[in-house]
Amino acid sequence: AAATIAAGALVLSGCTGGTDGGDEGGGGDGGLIGVAMPTKSSERWIQDGDAVKATLEEQGFSVDLQYAEDDIPTQVSQIENMITKGAEALIVASIDGTTLSEVLQTAADADIPVIAYDRLIRDTENVDYYATFDNFLVGQQQAWTVLNGLGLTDLEGNPTDGAPAGPFNIELFAGSLDDNNAFFFFNGAMSVFEPLIDDGTLVVKSGQTDIEQAATLRWDGEEAQSRMENLITANYSDGSQVDAVLSPYDGISRGIIGALTDAGYTVGEEWPIISGQDAEVDSVKAILSGEQYATIFKDTRELAKVASAMAVALLNGEEPEVNDTETYDNGVKIVPSYLLGPVPVVADNVESTLVDTGYWTAEELGL
Ligand code: BGC
Repeated sequence: AAATIAAGALVLSGCTGGTDGGDEGGGGDGGLIGVAMPTKSSERWIQDGDAVKATLEEQGFSVDLQYAEDDIPTQVSQIENMITKGAEALIVASIDGTTLSEVLQTAADADIPVIAYDRLIRDTENVDYYATFDNFLVGQQQAWTVLNGLGLTDLEGNPTDGAPAGPFNIELFAGSLDDNNAFFFFNGAMSVFEPLIDDGTLVVKSGQTDIEQAATLRWDGEEAQSRMENLITANYSDGSQVDAVLSPYDGISRGIIGALTDAGYTVGEEWPIISGQDAEVDSVKAILSGEQYATIFKDTRELAKVASAMAVALLNGEEPEVNDTETYDNGVKIVPSYLLGPVPVVADNVESTLVDTGYWTAEELGL
């Protein structure tokens, strides 16, 4: 009985998520797996971490789950600690995909396999597999949701009959340039927008169409808010309207919404179409209230299963299942990947995509 209580105590202390020691849960005899997540400041990574931990613990593994609050040295030392504690595999969602080469060399020297989680780890041969979504498709879907909101296409980009001619004023936001995903999202979206910018249907009044100009360091909503304020002041003080904003992530969308509100835009006819990503609760509510037009739902429970299965397969000497072996070149090698399918969400399909699947309850979304 004492052993049972001790194990239970371990599990409980695991839930408090300290930064060193005492944070392994599960107590199974499958060995320890280290899980490094970027930050708790965004809901999705909490969902991801919880889901990976639960999945691995169900299979008898102990899990050391750490969040680095978007601080690169913290993430490096957390991974070092995992190796010191005897982790047998690592699952890593990087903050900056280019800064882990040294610590992953230490892992490789100890024969510890490494799974890149959601974000590609770059510039090292010591990343074995990659579990993620089809990130180029995410970007295309973000663009299609914008076009859908403007009345131009359906959610798969098929032109709508009798679509308005435009032109529509659009401004573009991208994610953090140290995150490989930011390029896939932006390039996916621009592959959709470019012909429409060329034929004059879409007008980027600021002229800021390069990813370097559109980028948002660490996906920070406040940084996005001040960039949006500047864009409005510099380009829309002549009475013209912003009709749409490409946003790659719900936290950035909330910053954009703040800037528009401060500039006197009100929800209704003139309110711009704004995209997003991650189906965060507040943003789904914003979709229901009309402030945000769309988000992209990426089921973190499925991603957690794929990444966990990769780690377990490697520990069992088996080959993980992949479905893409050509897309994700990390600068040193093409990392074999499993890509999951993202789902666009607009007000009309919130219930079927998010509630019926059990991702959020109707209560959580205020339905
Ligand atoms: C993830 C997105 C997320 C963004 C900001 C990206 O790497 O793929 O789902 O919105 O990071 O956290």
